[in-house]
Amino acid sequence: MIDLINYGYKQFYMEEENDNSDFIPARVTEVHRELYKIISQYGEGNARLKGSMLKNVEFTEKFPAVGDFILIKYNTQGDSIITKVLKRTSIFSRPDYSGHGVGYVKTILEQVVAANFDYVFIMASLNYDFNMNRIQRYLTVAWQSGGVPVIVLTKADLLEDYTEQVSLVQKCAVGVDIVVVSAVTGFGLNRLASYMKPAKTLVFLGSSGVGKSSLVNALAGEEVMLVNTIREGDSKGRHTTTHRQLIMLTNGTMIIDTPGMRELGMWDIAEGLGEAFSDIEDLFTRCKFANCTHKSEPRCAVLEAIDNQTLERSRWETYLQLKREAKFTDDKAGYLKEKTTFYKKINKDMNNYCKSGGKY
Ligand code: GDP
Ligand code: ZN
Repeated sequence: MIDLINYGYKQFYMEEENDNSDFIPARVTEVHRELYKIISQYGEGNARLKGSMLKNVEFTEKFPAVGDFILIKYNTQGDSIITKVLKRTSIFSRPDYSGHGVGYVKTILEQVVAANFDYVFIMASLNYDFNMNRIQRYLTVAWQSGGVPVIVLTKADLLEDYTEQVSLVQKCAVGVDIVVVSAVTGFGLNRLASYMKPAKTLVFLGSSGVGKSSLVNALAGEEVMLVNTIREGDSKGRHTTTHRQLIMLTNGTMIIDTPGMRELGMWDIAEGLGEAFSDIEDLFTRCKFANCTHKSEPRCAVLEAIDNQTLERSRWETYLQLKREAKFTDDKAGYLKEKTTFYKKINKDMNNYCKSGGKY
């Protein structure tokens, strides 16, 4: 028997008395189109949503996400049935910007990508792409999530001196633990130890290339295991693979890593750009040419503002950098396609549910 407490479960998650012993708690480790991978006292397993959960509009924003604790009707023969998502202590969700959707579907304006994590590691590299604005945006997202943010500044081995970066972060992130690390030399990893405790769940926020995978590997040695390969008396796990979503390190710490997580901060940057740089975007309207690229055109309002020092060059460069990072948000087609697939799945589930006369 597996003790779900080792997976972060606490009695507290169960809001009301669970007097039906047919229903047991479990944790979601992977979310697939119609199938959920879960871990319960009986070990790993598959589960599906109970039909009535699909009908219940109130429930739609509560579709199970990776990290969720759920109640299942355990099935020894096949897939267990998810009857309830237990309350969440923290959540990251991905907003839907379309504003469309009708009736039943309209309520799914937020897609939860991770739940019930304890710490949010905000990762930023100390070298050339160190960017305070980005750290601040991640920090905002992290505070809103309900998890405890920890700022992890990576690649310390590449710099002689990083006191300036650290003091900048200290000023902007009062009360947040700041840890400088190097995955290459192992520097600072011991300072992360207080977060790397059994039954605790971590998530990582950070642009690609900051060293998230390297840090996980450095923390885990060679022994990152999949949650669902862990068996009693079996200490040899397979190595982690990218599509897995909730992994457990050998020391019992869990890490949630989903594609949705990787996008999270980016969406926010794109959203925030206009607000934070409205003065710059105002300038665009005053360039002589409507299609001005603000590089070398005559009567470019941006270049003029830099020239007469009403706009700091560094601020302009920050804007350009953030804009580049957020560029894939222009790839709305890709995002919408994914969303449509999500809706289609729900519609299909609804149809099946109706056709079966209410039985799933
Ligand atoms: P991720 O995209 O955030 O998962 O970043 P990766 O872990 O894949 O790292 C991106 C690149 O940075 C790789 O080439 C790593 O070898 C390198 N890298 C990661 N951590 C460190 C570090 O602490 N020091 C140095 N010098 N390079 C690092
Ligand atoms: Zn211009």
